[in-house]
Amino acid sequence: MTKNIIRLLILILLLILPQTYGYGKDEAPVKVKLVVQIVVDQLRADQIDKYSANLSEEGFNYLKKNGRYFGNTKISYARSATGPGHASIATGSVPAYHGIVNNDWYDRISKKKVYCAEYGGVISPLNLIGSTLSDEIYISQAGNAKIFGVSQKDRGAVFLAGHFGKAFWMDDDSIKFITSAYYYDKAPDFLNKFNDEIKFDNFSGYSWKPLYDPEKYVNYADKRQTEKFGLARFEKQSEPSAILNSPLGDSLTFELAKFIIMENRLGKGGHTDYISISFSSTDKIGHYFGNSSIEFEDQIYRLDKLIAGLIDFLDKYAGMNNVLITLTADHGAKDSFVPSNGNKNSTPERRRSGNLKSLCNDYVKDKLNVDFDAVEEIIMPNIYLNEDAIKNNGLKVEDVEILLKEYLRNKNGIYDVYTSSEIERNNLLLNMISSRVINSYCHKRSGNLYIVFEPEIPGGGNFYNRSEHGTPWNYDISIPLFFCGPGIVSGGYDGEVYIEDIAVTLANYLGLKLPSAASGKVIKFAR
Ligand SMILES: [Zn+2]
Repeated sequence: MTKNIIRLLILILLLILPQTYGYGKDEAPVKVKLVVQIVVDQLRADQIDKYSANLSEEGFNYLKKNGRYFGNTKISYARSATGPGHASIATGSVPAYHGIVNNDWYDRISKKKVYCAEYGGVISPLNLIGSTLSDEIYISQAGNAKIFGVSQKDRGAVFLAGHFGKAFWMDDDSIKFITSAYYYDKAPDFLNKFNDEIKFDNFSGYSWKPLYDPEKYVNYADKRQTEKFGLARFEKQSEPSAILNSPLGDSLTFELAKFIIMENRLGKGGHTDYISISFSSTDKIGHYFGNSSIEFEDQIYRLDKLIAGLIDFLDKYAGMNNVLITLTADHGAKDSFVPSNGNKNSTPERRRSGNLKSLCNDYVKDKLNVDFDAVEEIIMPNIYLNEDAIKNNGLKVEDVEILLKEYLRNKNGIYDVYTSSEIERNNLLLNMISSRVINSYCHKRSGNLYIVFEPEIPGGGNFYNRSEHGTPWNYDISIPLFFCGPGIVSGGYDGEVYIEDIAVTLANYLGLKLPSAASGKVIKFAR
């Protein structure tokens, strides 16, 4: 009797399991005509919920109702910035492997600052170590797939477009979309056509009016927001590119994405094509107005409408049963108006690193009785030591690292400091923060010391009203994640998944081999 019950239970389990866990390696990959990878620059997962009452049914809510939503998606490395975020989404990996440790880092050999999306003076993905999902889409179809990436920011476009795609971004001065010599000898005709059709001159007097009456905004009731509709501040800005601290950049990015899809007939050539669309306006508005502002909220509603417009366009163009849409963010952000616990007067400011450099150099000189500068460069949160000078003075790099670590970690506002020697010798207490620092560590590009400030410590100045990001704390590493496409059963999942799982899951879904430096895992979704 018991045996029969066990047999019955096993049979039931066998019947249930494949449905519960969805497809695995053995199941046939899904053939879609077009992969549309949307990234929102600066969007914390809970911000979609905060404004849900005013969201349409056709934007975020469409993806939620028709796709799979992972509301507990996290960044697993410390430096939550745009370059590392887009590179991690693109490669299914973390900075330790893909090498994009920050938006900028210091190159010890050339003794120069390096910008993540620039190589040899040309904007390109060449600093990226390993292949991207888009590369694998291209490779698997013997070069027949069409791959594109668009964004207002170059670093929002180039990593996702990979090594074989074509990337376009906005030139902040002319407010026109451009590309680089890495992709084309000269700008392609369709780009010129787009730039000609959009009347950029019209934007000189661009005025951003809120979509709704003031009372409709959640943030209208925010008591801390003394400057209701800071749009007056927006309109007073003098430099031409200031209009990009508005939803305008997203609108233009959206128009270019649609234009590229139509002009290049993406998804119509019998292959699986790919386009990434990274929307930068939320980040720019968050930094400028803060995420408790009506401007930020208005931007979320406009973004929702753009997503709705994109879905409507794709449905008419190719049919949603032929399109895979995925949406995530490159990082979250600190809430505006949340002050730090640290004493503001004695807190070293994150982005004003000049003062910190001389403080560190003076400290080493005093403690070790030497007269050279031990700190060569600081690009927050990385401190690069002058290793040659340290060795030439008969000192050990590791000893100077530890000396500075002890000095800095006792400063008000600094949570802890991690040294490259500790990481390389596996000599760190592993916890939530140190494991994220390790995932951010790539020896050729990381500093000798990595500073982690306490939560909510502001960057340059005391801009408590603004949004900032870049830390390993929860507000910065929480991002939304949606997958919506054929075979993906709708529903939400509360379990923790990670930014590096996105490309791995997509590769599995499409039946591709993994991007070469991928470290994520397949997120199982029932289908
Ligand atoms: Zn930002």
